[in-house]
Amino acid sequence: MEAKKDIRALSKEELREFFVANGDKAFRGNQVYEWLWHKTAHNFEDMTNVSKGTRAMLEANFVINHIEVDQMQRSKDGTVKNAIRLHDGLIVESVLIPTDTRTTACVSSQVGCSFNCSFCATARLKRMRDLNPGEIYDQVSAINQESLLYYNHKLSNIVFMGMGEPLMNYDNVMKSIEMITSPEGLGMSPKRITVSTSGVPHRIKQMADEGTKVNLALSLHSAIDEIRTKIMPFNKKYDLASIKEALIYWYHKTERHVTYEYVVWEGINDDKESIKALIEFCKIIPCKVNLIEYNPIDDGPFQQASPATINNYISNLEMHDITVNVRRSRGKDIDAACGQLANKSKDTV
Ligand code: SAH
Repeated sequence: MEAKKDIRALSKEELREFFVANGDKAFRGNQVYEWLWHKTAHNFEDMTNVSKGTRAMLEANFVINHIEVDQMQRSKDGTVKNAIRLHDGLIVESVLIPTDTRTTACVSSQVGCSFNCSFCATARLKRMRDLNPGEIYDQVSAINQESLLYYNHKLSNIVFMGMGEPLMNYDNVMKSIEMITSPEGLGMSPKRITVSTSGVPHRIKQMADEGTKVNLALSLHSAIDEIRTKIMPFNKKYDLASIKEALIYWYHKTERHVTYEYVVWEGINDDKESIKALIEFCKIIPCKVNLIEYNPIDDGPFQQASPATINNYISNLEMHDITVNVRRSRGKDIDAACGQLANKSKDTV
């Protein structure tokens, strides 16, 4: 027998068509759609304004694949990490990062990752599969609920900086954003969502073409091809020239600046040439630089540069009127910081 289809893979229009094809009104599709997304129904039984017969018909045709929070860890600094069990038993992680005034959700887009950055723990897992739109949406919804529970306010921001490369799962990530921002979903503003990418030029252009209103962050780490290819090997295929072209395209279409994420490592990109190249790269389009603290993942060759070196970076960038922020890591004690998501929690259950 063919496996039943996940009903949340259907768009609203498809759901409306399904009801019409089954002799019901299109409007029934809207009702069910609202149950699935806004009210996050886990069972057809929960859909109380839908008749018993219709519920049974849905049950016979579809499943609702929801995620389950398998394990939740809380850091000393208030960061919460969820290990999420998917319907097929695979695990991904998502993180709630609180500050005094807001809560940010850091969500995953793939199980493992398509790319192989040598400083990132997720890369070790390789890509097992892409997450579907519902699985991404559910991570956000779970963090929204945790935010209300623990911090008494709604989720305010979302960053696609968990496991995976969002632009290598483009369609599903965009569909999830559509639901997150729709009034029938979570009704969040796209301005509060950031998609972070290692750099997939044609997808950056596609985002610009489609008029998406989300923010774009690029994990740059080096503005010199030779160095970048060493630490982010896919840079051989998507090199800095192709990324540069895509960024110009992005800016001309959207008029929105881009944030560059950058870690400074000892002996890798801590030299004058690297700083000079970064300053040049920052001239391409209006931008901001976030210097991220390195979170060691093993005894490999990567070591965070000294505070003096980082200050040197900051003063050089500022001298050229480039906005630079230093991002302290959160949730390091529970392996929830950037680049540390690697499903270690599943070994400790
Ligand atoms: N694939 C996407 C999003 C996931 S990674 C991307 O590359 O942007 C989120 C951020 O964490 C990226 O900027 C990534 O380069 C950075 N990162 C990865 N490993 C890290 C580590 N060990 N320490 C600090 N930052 C890391």
